[in-house]
Amino acid sequence: MTQLSDDCFAFGGKLMTTAEALALLNERVSTLTETEAVDLSDAAGRVLAEDIVSRHNVPPRDNSAVDGYALAFSDLSADEDVTLRVAGRVPAGFAPDMQHKPGDSVRIFTGAVLPDGFDTVVMQEDVRTDGDTVTIPPGLKQGSNARKAGEDIKAGDVILHRGHRLRAQDLGLAASVGQHSLTVYSPLKVALFSTGDELREPGDDLTPGAIYDANRFMLAGLIRGLGCSVTDMGILPDRLDAVCDALSEAAASHDLLFTSGGVSTGEEDHVRTAVEKLGSIHAWRLAIKPGRPIALGQVGSTAFVGLPGNPVAAMVCFLKFARPLILRLGGCAEDPARTYKIRAGFQYSKKPDRREWVRAHIALNGDGQAEVRKFRSQGSGILSSMVESDGLVELPEDLTELQVGDLVDFLPFSEVNV
Ligand code: AMP
Ligand code: MG
Repeated sequence: MTQLSDDCFAFGGKLMTTAEALALLNERVSTLTETEAVDLSDAAGRVLAEDIVSRHNVPPRDNSAVDGYALAFSDLSADEDVTLRVAGRVPAGFAPDMQHKPGDSVRIFTGAVLPDGFDTVVMQEDVRTDGDTVTIPPGLKQGSNARKAGEDIKAGDVILHRGHRLRAQDLGLAASVGQHSLTVYSPLKVALFSTGDELREPGDDLTPGAIYDANRFMLAGLIRGLGCSVTDMGILPDRLDAVCDALSEAAASHDLLFTSGGVSTGEEDHVRTAVEKLGSIHAWRLAIKPGRPIALGQVGSTAFVGLPGNPVAAMVCFLKFARPLILRLGGCAEDPARTYKIRAGFQYSKKPDRREWVRAHIALNGDGQAEVRKFRSQGSGILSSMVESDGLVELPEDLTELQVGDLVDFLPFSEVNV
């Protein structure tokens, strides 16, 4: 069940800044509590619902990092060769049952447990052997080529934290402590609609006045990329009754509803009215570009997000506002996407008091230094700008004139996995 308080998105102010909007989301949206156990091999991309505590030391015992000869450092000389007896042989996978005696070494292999009293290993390439003796040159440090029990992980360590989205290396780490099942948050069930009488399915004929539905495919990819299960609900016509019926039906079986288009104030924009009738809606008038009001609300206890219809505005608003909302509902505690300071390779004028995102790519200037270059057309319907660019330059509210060479904040698409 969605844990939304009534009217959780209500906001009294007028134009809201990006920072205020994100703070409100953070404050008023909490994680859905349903969890499930998954096998380690099915856990990639899922969000941990528990801290994982290791029951073991990794590695469990002191062992050799190379193929060679294990010895006691105290048997070596600082400045001359030393010849030791080879008293045994330890392959990987055994617990050796022997005790070091002065002058002893053992033949040992990578990953094999060091027998008691042996603290140092010499590589096989560095020694001379003769019968059952081995001659070791000076210069070895105590503990060389030996791996200590628990040097990676100690029993009792928290190795992975609740709220973490599991990557390949995390699964490897969980496996290394013997964990085979993980408790993760259940995936959010998201219903996704497009709205507009002008929209057609790709593959269908384009009748006069029609365009292909781009948003639904883009948004489905974005939402699935965050680990949600997406139900493709198709295209809604610009008719209030149809929008109402479809949204109330979808709300019954989903955690979150997404629409694009139809949230402005035109006569053909029925989404807002529909959600108002079914529950509550708050059109946040954000001081941003691109993007018009992003509509947030709820139908019953199901959260609702109405994105702008223009594809670029829809994707930018998704990345900046819907993505944090999904992360929070889905239990993911990851930090916000990082921006990086980089030099602007373009001049730009903007209105004060609003935040703007400029689509740009990274290029090298004459000195071989990286700079960001603006895509030629910044219209909010120019979806090719999102394809040609590497990310978004984020221009703060108080900036009005940007000069070539100024440092700007750049959000690479790779930071948000797109
Ligand atoms: P709206 O907010 O419904 O007035 O839509 C704003 C603009 O975005 C209009 O030009 C729509 O045709 C366009 N648009 C809306 N939905 C989509 C969509 N799913 N794919 C492509 N363009 C869209
Ligand atoms: Mg429309």
